[in-house]
Amino acid sequence: MSPGIDATHDPALRSWVDSANQPDGDFPIQNLPFGRFRLGEQPWRMGVAIGDQVLDLRLALEARALPEELEPGLLPLAAGDLNAFMALGPGARSALRKALSGALAAGSQAQARLAACLVPQARVELGLPCVIGDYTDFYVGIHHATAVGRLFRPDNPLLPNYPWVPIAYHGRSSTILPSGHAFSRPWGQVRPPEAEVPELRPTARLDFELEMGIVIGGANALGEAVPIERAEQQVFGLTLFNDWSARDVQAWEYQPLGPFLSKNFASTLSPWVVTLEALAPFRRALSRPAGQPRPLPYLHSEADAAGGAFDVQLEVWLSTERMRAQGLGAHCISRSNFADAACWTVAQMVTHHTVGGCALRPGDLFGSGTLSGPRPEQAGSLLELSQGGKRPIELPGGEQRSFLQDGDEITLRGLCHRPGAARIGFGACTARVLPAVTR
Ligand code: CA
Repeated sequence: MSPGIDATHDPALRSWVDSANQPDGDFPIQNLPFGRFRLGEQPWRMGVAIGDQVLDLRLALEARALPEELEPGLLPLAAGDLNAFMALGPGARSALRKALSGALAAGSQAQARLAACLVPQARVELGLPCVIGDYTDFYVGIHHATAVGRLFRPDNPLLPNYPWVPIAYHGRSSTILPSGHAFSRPWGQVRPPEAEVPELRPTARLDFELEMGIVIGGANALGEAVPIERAEQQVFGLTLFNDWSARDVQAWEYQPLGPFLSKNFASTLSPWVVTLEALAPFRRALSRPAGQPRPLPYLHSEADAAGGAFDVQLEVWLSTERMRAQGLGAHCISRSNFADAACWTVAQMVTHHTVGGCALRPGDLFGSGTLSGPRPEQAGSLLELSQGGKRPIELPGGEQRSFLQDGDEITLRGLCHRPGAARIGFGACTARVLPAVTR
């Protein structure tokens, strides 16, 4: 058995929740991701996705359906506080996973009590999975960095620091929205190429960015660097993340300090956090392109180099207002993979973030950066897919897109599968673009 793989990953495991046994579902018993939900006006609480249901952890606590020693972890979860549960560390998470796996497995004696704790996902509102503290957006997608760099600097697409430093900027958590929340096309300052002076207007080059979200679960003290060997202990799990971007605003404002209003109007996070334990069967080596230098020693460990990347297949789906009016379903415009797209691992991001002494806290969020694959059709943004707007993509129904129009809806999906493991998914990360408000 590979490290981290145990009975909870057994592909033969079945649940007494019938919908969890569908072969193409995102939430079989081997996944068990955490999400925050509410029913109507009831208070928020934490649940675990199983098939098309949510296991309500407040009801599970009240029903005493899980071992008593898990109570210190279940109390914050019942109150909707994932941050406090994350602060208990990977041991509490792993113990709860084992108990839930046993209790939800076919033949479990807990079935009668837990069956009353299930709520159909179709009936609940899903929020952000935790209170997000500080948010850092990385830029680890090397094919994205190369393609975007080439648009600006054809002869020198990758800047010299790129293979050495996991590049990032600090963003804002106040505009991170849960999946399903529409947002208005943002205004910003833009200078058209032929103009002498800039103007304030709604962005004409609205884009998506296909990213993974990395939810930090552990804290390090101010001044304490987290060594690479322990870095993953600070990580609770992964989500999907869409870092909406206004390219015309970005092009004008980004020098010298980086993105500002082009990124701070909305980002969309998927509701279910897939834990690192659930992802254990899908570890692999990062595919760093040939010719890259070996990272500095503080960013290297044998274990991280061998299995620090996660094989998550990613998809971007676009649905336009006209497609929906014509009865056409969403169209897949790109497919990529986290492990193929990134040139730094999650552990390297954590270690670099803290090497100068920066304190991370439970609930902090990293964006991975845009995860474009090596081929042009695997790009994780319209900026790349349309080659800077010069070659619009074709959609079913005859429409074209260089950038997003009002009414467009983007859905990100992620799934992991390989022979000998149960397929697990991330659910949907979706949001629709509304017209700009009047200024
Ligand atoms: Ca980004």
